[in-house]
Amino acid sequence: MESATYFGGWCRMREGTRAGFVKWMMKSRQVPVAEALDVLRWGEKSDGWVQIGEQCGWVEASETVKNLPEFAAPNSGVMTMLEFTPWNCDKRCEVHGVSYLGARCPVCFVRYVVSSVGVFHVPRGAT
Ligand SMILES: [Zn+2]
Repeated sequence: MESATYFGGWCRMREGTRAGFVKWMMKSRQVPVAEALDVLRWGEKSDGWVQIGEQCGWVEASETVKNLPEFAAPNSGVMTMLEFTPWNCDKRCEVHGVSYLGARCPVCFVRYVVSSVGVFHVPRGAT
């Protein structure tokens, strides 16, 4: 049986928001400044993409990419299947707003995690 899919939330940083991003990392993820700077540098090498949600259920990932932090470029929020980065996804399901790689949208066809507290959704016909 396939395991249930978790999601990640991503956005792109706006120009000139390095300090804002580092503060956000330290506050929301409770990481030391050195780790926040590492993530910042990684994001800058990745065309400004940074992960703002990980191991999210569908509900949390949707909320995360709708309510972007201040450092995010407007409308840059993207939800992906957890194991993928936005630039590795070659398809997007417009129904569910999920970017993905592979043959099918995980939300349409595969078991996925509705919420991070561990509720699973099994669509009809998917088993
Ligand atoms: Zn879908």
